[in-house]
Amino acid sequence: MLSWSNSSPVKDLPVFERSEGVYLYDSNGKRYLDWTSQAVCVNLGYTVPESIKDRAEFGSEKSVLASLEGPYGAQDPGAQGESGYGGLGLAPVRAKLARLMAEICPGDLNGFLFPSGGGEANEAAIRMARLYTGKQKIFTQYRSYHGGSTSSLGATGDFRRRFTESNTHGFVKFFNPQPSGFSWGSTDQSATRRTLATLEDQILAEGPDTIAAIMVESRELGESEMDCFGVDCGSSIVGAGGVLVPPEGYIEGVRSLCDKYDILMICDEVMVGFGRTGHFFAFQHFEGVIPDMVTSAKGLTGSYLPLSMVGVRQKIKNYFWEKPVGWGATYHAHPVAVACAYETVKYMLKEKIVEKVQSLEHVMMQELQNLVLKHDSVRQARNVGLFGCLDLQNPNGHFIQRLGGASPPEVQLLRQAMRDQGLMALFRPPLLHCAPPLVIQARRGAHCGELRSLRCAVLLVWRDP
Ligand code: PLP
Repeated sequence: MLSWSNSSPVKDLPVFERSEGVYLYDSNGKRYLDWTSQAVCVNLGYTVPESIKDRAEFGSEKSVLASLEGPYGAQDPGAQGESGYGGLGLAPVRAKLARLMAEICPGDLNGFLFPSGGGEANEAAIRMARLYTGKQKIFTQYRSYHGGSTSSLGATGDFRRRFTESNTHGFVKFFNPQPSGFSWGSTDQSATRRTLATLEDQILAEGPDTIAAIMVESRELGESEMDCFGVDCGSSIVGAGGVLVPPEGYIEGVRSLCDKYDILMICDEVMVGFGRTGHFFAFQHFEGVIPDMVTSAKGLTGSYLPLSMVGVRQKIKNYFWEKPVGWGATYHAHPVAVACAYETVKYMLKEKIVEKVQSLEHVMMQELQNLVLKHDSVRQARNVGLFGCLDLQNPNGHFIQRLGGASPPEVQLLRQAMRDQGLMALFRPPLLHCAPPLVIQARRGAHCGELRSLRCAVLLVWRDP
């Protein structure tokens, strides 16, 4: 299968035959703990809760299409006021999901669009921001990923934007508060003050009357730029990637600049939305911040089916009530996926998944910090809720890996050791991501308890210099 990286076959990859809870089982019956929920998306693990299976009816013997009274559902004109946009037939479930979203979203975020993927949601949000404001420029951060379609990749700041260099017209990049090669200051206050002052200067230089929106990831899983097209980023990157927690006051400051210059604020919560950081939405960590638009995906359905969302505030909803959104797709708000999202969010509320993540935050923090204390090879660790990351280092203090180049021996060793120990994780040297399904258990079991098994694995496998 082709993907972002080169697709030459990787040897000895396990072939998974079944899955259960937070585990996958290969063809030899060996069990692997999924330490990063696939692409930080299988938020409720692999066992589909009965309530989701039954009521969304995609697992029952009753045919999916029969359960929908036709492929796009019964017409329900009364639903239009709830579900927002589009000229497709309206299945009642769409209105139900839109109503539920309006209940969980703070403030007046109450207009919704339901595309199929995160990049598509950002694509739609960008287009809507341009139409609503009549302005073209979208400000995004260098350390960001917003999706693989043309506009969302144009908005992307990490190395992948170079795949669409000719289509990035209208996107202006700005530096995150955590640059890799220099410092904005040693305290949160100075980092916030200087980053915001620089951003304001950039807004003035570009012209506020040309800027439609500033799009940020409210909590970012920073990319290692080690992989960037043969550029040797050296040791300057260490400590700057991973879960980039914005310094105090930063996100609030971005909101204020948007208000001051009449620019929309878009929060990309494709990865962090739906409980990952201990709130339904990560922007809820920041006092008084309500974005004008929020996008999300992944956790919306626990990734059992593909669905994403764009949520917009009342003023934008009103605007597009009268005018076309200029975006649509055949599978937009597909009723089966919408039913799955509705039941997933209901399940999260009933099982208090967000509260559970809050209670596990300190367990993960403790486990990751223990690794920092015990191993020279683990330089730094961070997490917010169950969204975390380890910065690893070799005896020279850094890894060097070029895109398409051979992995350093330590990386190969750790990859193999994790596989031997039954641990699957996104590993973008020097970053090892830590984002297990939100249903992971902290209990001490036969070994260390699920949430403690990274420690077990690292203790067992990592050979310190
Ligand atoms: N935005 C963010 C912050 C993401 O993390 C991702 C994917 O990981 C996307 C957008 C793109 O989402 P998708 O892969 O569903 O198109």
